[in-house]
Amino acid sequence: MDLKSHIRTIPDFPKPGIQFYDITTLLLHAEAWRETVDLLAEAVKKHEPDLLAGIESRGFIFGAPVAYALGLGFVILRKKGKLPGSKASHTYELEYGNDTIEMHDDAVRSGQRVVLIDDLLATGGTMDAAVRLLRGIGAVVPAAACVIELTFLKGRGRLDVPVESLLTYDD
Ligand code: AMP
Repeated sequence: MDLKSHIRTIPDFPKPGIQFYDITTLLLHAEAWRETVDLLAEAVKKHEPDLLAGIESRGFIFGAPVAYALGLGFVILRKKGKLPGSKASHTYELEYGNDTIEMHDDAVRSGQRVVLIDDLLATGGTMDAAVRLLRGIGAVVPAAACVIELTFLKGRGRLDVPVESLLTYDD
């Protein structure tokens, strides 16, 4: 199936000059949605995870069904201030200012293998922050996976874990 044909591109969103890759159209198409989850599950499985982790919020949409399909637990990495329990956090730099992601500090036991899932890899800043957050609490991160990789932004080069991507765009 041509999954790319189900991804809508929207120019100048959220700001001028950015081409936004919109996965809502993929989610609306039952077969494309199922195929995406199946392909992600296959790509992730070979890294032998104990758990999967999703990055808020589109990482939840893809990560949770993949974890369900593989019979694994699912850890959520959230924006600051959303989680109720005792937390670990990691702050990272953005183009302007910075951002913080958090997770419950008892969600992963030291040495557990956690594969990360997000919808899209752009510069790699978000994925890199998630890897550091997980490692900070003792997790092993054998790989990261995404549906879309914007190869021209070279996010993969910023990460020290292998990245599984289903679709690549080079401009
Ligand atoms: P980055 O940290 O630069 O790799 O950005 C990745 C995060 O930002 C992902 O969670 C994406 O959902 C979102 N994102 C970045 N660029 C785009 C884009 N062009 N289209 C859609 N989502 C994007």
